[in-house]
Amino acid sequence: MKGKNFTRREFIKAAGAGATLLLANKFGIHSLAWADSKKKTLKMVLVDYTKCTGCRTCEAVCSAYHNPVIVNGKSLPGLGNPVYSRIRVHSFNPDVDIPNVCNMCPDAPCVKACPVEPEPKTGRRAIYRDEKTQTIQNDPKRCIACGSCAKACAEQRTGVIELDPQTGKPRPTCNLCGGEPQCVKHCPFNALSVVEVKTSSKFYGKSPKKIATELSKQWYGKVI
Ligand code: SF4
Ligand code: SF4
Ligand code: SF4
Repeated sequence: MKGKNFTRREFIKAAGAGATLLLANKFGIHSLAWADSKKKTLKMVLVDYTKCTGCRTCEAVCSAYHNPVIVNGKSLPGLGNPVYSRIRVHSFNPDVDIPNVCNMCPDAPCVKACPVEPEPKTGRRAIYRDEKTQTIQNDPKRCIACGSCAKACAEQRTGVIELDPQTGKPRPTCNLCGGEPQCVKHCPFNALSVVEVKTSSKFYGKSPKKIATELSKQWYGKVI
């Protein structure tokens, strides 16, 4: 296990040095075939925890894509505030890194917990599954900042919903970049992929702490 630990740290170092270059050189658009598909299958970003080094390139790429830093009215390519990333890497000791991202739950406990009445025309609560992307979105205009969605997600699933400390409303969660998942494209270790949601898969809907506890036992024989 020592060897594995050492290799992971080496990876992190290498990634840290290369991350800026990577973002500057590779930031761009790519399309996936499913983006145009009329089939309404649920897709999510799946993490291979054996490959993730905790380099956080995914956080940097996600925030740069969705919330680019703007200076003098111009957005700076490849630069974003990781606070707004829709994928969040949780690091544990012993060395286990768990990127947390919406699992696009078919039964969506977050949506069910929202007390805002469905809009008559669209059937949407303040948090809803978007028809086009089949991802979970929040409408800040209708949201009453009660935090019920975040609580339901934390108690029943991944706990991925983060509430903005100023507004008390959920920050946006993963929308699969509208069909061009940037984190998947730019992860330097190919730890991320887009897959169809399978509730039977091993770590589906689990919190980072639960996943890390399980992996720590497997990899290091220790409980976190
Ligand atoms: S998923 Fe990839 S990009 Fe994100 S921290 Fe892990 S290795 Fe880095
Ligand atoms: S409960 Fe959490 S993980 Fe599941 S769809 Fe809602 S936000 Fe995503
Ligand atoms: S698919 Fe896009 S929105 Fe989702 S976590 Fe990755 S970069 Fe962020």
